[in-house]
Amino acid sequence: MIDTHCHLTFPQYSGRVEAVLQAAAKRGVVGAITVSTTTANAADCLALARRFHNVWCSAGVHPLHSDEPADWPAMLAVAHDERCVAFGELGLDKHYDHPPLDVQRRILGEQLNAISSSGLDLPIIVHCREAFDELLPTFRASGLAGSRFVFHCFTGGPDEARAVLDLGAMISYTGIVTFRNARSIQDAAKITPGDRLMIETDAPFLTPEPHRKIYPNEPQYAADTARFVAQLRGEPWGDFHDAINANSARFFRIPLEACT
Ligand SMILES: [Zn+2]
Repeated sequence: MIDTHCHLTFPQYSGRVEAVLQAAAKRGVVGAITVSTTTANAADCLALARRFHNVWCSAGVHPLHSDEPADWPAMLAVAHDERCVAFGELGLDKHYDHPPLDVQRRILGEQLNAISSSGLDLPIIVHCREAFDELLPTFRASGLAGSRFVFHCFTGGPDEARAVLDLGAMISYTGIVTFRNARSIQDAAKITPGDRLMIETDAPFLTPEPHRKIYPNEPQYAADTARFVAQLRGEPWGDFHDAINANSARFFRIPLEACT
């Protein structure tokens, strides 16, 4: 499998990305998508993706970085590279009151416009925290196909999952789903159709059980989350593993063979 969402350019991995990738491969996590948080970071993500044959990147601005300079032409330049497989992560985060929501909204609007006018039909990684009510209509109004979106680090319950699935989007689960107090997220994971679900770490954050105390999180722990969700859904590991691999290959257009 691959870790479909992590942040390998973060300082937590400075000088040891190769070792982190090797540790992941030993546990069956044979590739990773390193996700961009600012337009400057997108260039770093691309540089990393060019260094490792089994790392790909995204290009976009995280809502909690909306107050940093955003250079849309620079974002699109990264997006045009063959190592870049997605836009994002973009969205809204209403859990924090900084950057202010009006700044987050402005950057989201500019970013969706830049994506629409780019002519690129890359998938779009969504950061949605306590913002389903606003993001779903925003994406519908954008004219971008709902099937292009993945709601990463899903933290809603079954109702939010149904709304996201109605849009046509994918749902991706992190280690949060393994936490004991995550009952409603687990219920969402149970009702997510097998062809609409992906697994990620969001490393360096959110290390899954039974390694929750380990920081930083690493792509290798995506294997624990995947096994947990397979068991939660009552699916044999082999079937679930095949399904998430088919989903990530189709959605991000990364065939698993490309990792070996
Ligand atoms: Zn992230």
